[in-house]
Amino acid sequence: AKAAGRGKHCFYEPSMHSEASKRQLLENDLRGALERNELSVVYQPVVRAAGEEVAGFEALVRWKHPKQGDISPTRFIPLAEECGMIGKLGEWVLEQAVHAAREWPDHVRIAVNLSPIQFNDPKIVETVGLALQRSGIRPSRLELEITEGVFLADSDVTDGTFARLKELGVRLALDDFGTGYSSLGYLKKAPFDKIKIDQSFVRGAASTSSRNAAIIRAIVTLAESLGMDTVAEGVETHDDLQLMRDLGVSQIQGYIFGRPSALEDATDLASASSVE
Ligand code: C2E
Ligand code: CA
Ligand code: CA
Ligand code: CA
Repeated sequence: AKAAGRGKHCFYEPSMHSEASKRQLLENDLRGALERNELSVVYQPVVRAAGEEVAGFEALVRWKHPKQGDISPTRFIPLAEECGMIGKLGEWVLEQAVHAAREWPDHVRIAVNLSPIQFNDPKIVETVGLALQRSGIRPSRLELEITEGVFLADSDVTDGTFARLKELGVRLALDDFGTGYSSLGYLKKAPFDKIKIDQSFVRGAASTSSRNAAIIRAIVTLAESLGMDTVAEGVETHDDLQLMRDLGVSQIQGYIFGRPSALEDATDLASASSVE
């Protein structure tokens, strides 16, 4: 139903004053945001659990609304998806991100989020291939983060897309792992290189019940036996960091090592942490 209505609710009608109309006003603003230079990309470090070397960065989009200030991507990405704008927005983020990676040492990766709608677009492989070509970075430096949402469409496009993306040489990460309905089933369906353990299991795991730790331990064991890396997202405290290390998680992402920051700062960090 969502797909059928895409692009339908993107225009403001003065008669509307509800929550829904506020949403539509925001959608209208989002339409021109890219042209007005209101969007930017920030980069959050992903650090090797053993030691503190930067393994890569995740690209995260930001929107500075001229009147409302910073608006969270958790708010405007769904709007962009409904409005048929996610393709253009996502392509722009990808382009910025692979370009950014040129500034970093060659072993430092760049992770980019792909909306399920982007992923299910038959043109996605071509788009990714062209972005890689233009940037000149090694394909294996690019990691595409997808969520379990891509499997809900369950189309043939999806199956073929995984294989063709792997042929390009990019890496695939399964984001927000553990939050879907059939997480284990998804691991069977696609050749993921990495599992990103959702923040809901990670944050506060050291100080709350041992259940989260037990779940993370099981995810790590599973990932290792399938030859996949693991990332713990949302690590904010030293206690949680220590626990993630004890549990054998391979990489750490969280405020403890750095918030998402401008390209310049990311580049400084990438060079500083680099072991020659
Ligand atoms: P995500 O892909 O799961 O990204 C991780 C989010 O967790 C980011 O929020 C990041 O800033 C936040 N985070 C990382 N470490 C910590 C921590 O230690 N503590 C806390 N409290 N938060 C932490 P952000 O940037 O607000 O993005 C939210 C979501 O918006 C992303 O979740 C992703 O689903 C979506 N998003 C962001 N940028 C893009 C994009 O370019 N394309 C698409 N399709 N989605 C995006
Ligand atoms: Ca992500
Ligand atoms: Ca995530
Ligand atoms: Ca998320």
